[in-house]
Amino acid sequence: MRLDAIVIGAGISGLSAAYFLQKQNQNFLIFEPNKIGGFIQTEHREGFQLELGPNVLVKKSFFEKFIKELQLESSIVYPEFSDYEQFVWYDNQPTKVPKKILEFIKTDLVSVNEKINLLFKLFSKKVFKTQIDLSVFDFFKPLLGPNFLMNIFNPVMQGIYGGDIKNLSARSVFPDIWNFVAKKQSIFSYIKQKKDKPKIFMLKNGNDFLVKKITESLPDDCIRNITVENVSFNQEKREFEVLTSTGEKFFAKKVFIGTSGKSTAKLFSETSNEKFIQFSKKIEGLKFAPLVVVHAKTKTKKLVSEKAFGVLFPPVRESGFLGVMFNSQIFPHLKSNNDELLTICFGGVANPDICSVSEEEIKKRAISELDKCFGVKSAHVISVKYWKNAIPQYNQGHHKLNSEMANLENAFPGLHFIGSDIGGVGVANRLERVYKAFNLLS
Ligand SMILES: Cc1cc2nc3c(=O)[nH]c(=O)nc-3n(C[C@H](O)[C@H](O)[C@H](O)COP(=O)(O)OP(=O)(O)OC[C@H]3O[C@@H](n4cnc5c(N)ncnc54)[C@H](O)[C@@H]3O)c2cc1C
Repeated sequence: MRLDAIVIGAGISGLSAAYFLQKQNQNFLIFEPNKIGGFIQTEHREGFQLELGPNVLVKKSFFEKFIKELQLESSIVYPEFSDYEQFVWYDNQPTKVPKKILEFIKTDLVSVNEKINLLFKLFSKKVFKTQIDLSVFDFFKPLLGPNFLMNIFNPVMQGIYGGDIKNLSARSVFPDIWNFVAKKQSIFSYIKQKKDKPKIFMLKNGNDFLVKKITESLPDDCIRNITVENVSFNQEKREFEVLTSTGEKFFAKKVFIGTSGKSTAKLFSETSNEKFIQFSKKIEGLKFAPLVVVHAKTKTKKLVSEKAFGVLFPPVRESGFLGVMFNSQIFPHLKSNNDELLTICFGGVANPDICSVSEEEIKKRAISELDKCFGVKSAHVISVKYWKNAIPQYNQGHHKLNSEMANLENAFPGLHFIGSDIGGVGVANRLERVYKAFNLLS
């Protein structure tokens, strides 16, 4: 079958690409063997609305535009408190991450010397080394110092990436900062030119409402419940050939790769094109952090403080406990029968085998950690979700993979990598990448 475009994977990356193809009146198909929405999954259990994947979304300007187009504005829910508080586990207790100057001066998370050092270096144009791709730890150390990094950055990066700040690449994880200071600018100038901090939000009916709304906007029958086995390029016809697990072949001038890591590697592994084969070998090696997401209910209120968003842990706990989010405290519509909803996360790169731990054991660990850390006696686990390949690790050297992908896109016009191997690991990042693929970002 000949089409204008083919989309591989119906996570948010593939679905949003399909949305723009539909707006351009293109003839296309999406292939997705699993659940439509990929990681974005909302479930309803025991009276609660549970996010098994992303909980909070970041409202950047293009996301706002997308939401408007989908008429989702009335579904948006912002945190109950705009000045919500984030905590890290330090010295055996939840410790508030400073947001204001006075809090920073008072915090125990950072040493006095580091505070003075930061004050001086804030305005210096010579703090950062950008000649080589340093780890997040090594890059920020001259500015922030080791305590700041290990006590605050480390748990926070575990929370977002499930990753290790001594391996994650500063250039790939913080490309804006890296590019800015590479032009010999101070970090103060960077902060000054940043527009308003983007707000976080979720959708009232569950984040999978975004998936539903996009799917509803697409033509009937454009999603095929089939795995794509292989992508190749026919030089003569200048088109892509896509082979599915049913043995059918589809041809198109454009192909959007909405998969990541090993799934992407497999697509390009069996072809006569040497460039595809070399790329496949490289992307095969991309590491992912595993996560186990547990939802629990409890009668106990205000576990840490009235405005606490959650507590993030350094990756040193035997249980593999990474953090807890106080969902219903921040988003009160998530309460049920006056019970509070919590999301507890285990895993990350520090706990590579977390997905082999039995559900019973994970439940025990969740209950025990809630008791040990917060004195919660009444917790009851509602669900346990395993994600073996949850978050791609943009470790040092990752930019080389990005360059390789950009080179392939140049060599094969019509090829678009939109999966989370490139451009950031959050939902907003995925959407931004798709906007870029369609030249929609000003
Ligand atoms: C537990 C967890 C919590 C998260 N929390 C947040 C958060 O709070 N905020 C945030 O912004 N982000 C969060 N993220 C990240 C966010 O969920 C992802 O960035 C985003 O959902 C990735 O979307 P995607 O479409 O790129 O990939 P996916 O959702 O992985 O979709 C890829 C799709 O491709 C399909 N596929 C694979 N191989 C093939 C093939 N051969 N043929 C056809 N289809 C194929 C897969 O089945 C899958 O459905 C979280 C992720 C996880 C796992």
